[in-house]
Amino acid sequence: MSEPMLAVRHTTGADGPYWRALAAGRVELPRCAGCGRWHWPAVFRCGECGSWDQQWHAVEPEGTVFSWTRTWHAFDGSEKIGLPFVSLVVELPQCGGRRLLGLLEGEAGGLRIGAAVRARVAETEIWGERIPALRWTLSGASS
Ligand SMILES: [Zn+2]
Repeated sequence: MSEPMLAVRHTTGADGPYWRALAAGRVELPRCAGCGRWHWPAVFRCGECGSWDQQWHAVEPEGTVFSWTRTWHAFDGSEKIGLPFVSLVVELPQCGGRRLLGLLEGEAGGLRIGAAVRARVAETEIWGERIPALRWTLSGASS
């Protein structure tokens, strides 16, 4: 059996369930049981209604590109990521517009703000440790 991924060993914060689910190949986000608001980043207590009851729900990792950037130069810890790479901020309308980060894989020809994307759960290596991560693909693009 391989070493547990970094994020799995550091899951004591409010976002712990996110990392455990991601390590198991799923995307889960918290929603307040008191008022129904989706939260991301995760919170222990809802800032809208004050409820401590945050429930985690499996969500389809589909959304639209909110923002993106292409990185041409390696930086400390990113050496295992091939250059250049494209980082996306993706808005999930089904989760109240919460936004997730990840790298783009596959064809980047149709990349634009508002483009439809879908993610798969993969992993990346930072400073020699593996962490679960999202890889986004443009919907309709061949991989
Ligand atoms: Zn609430």
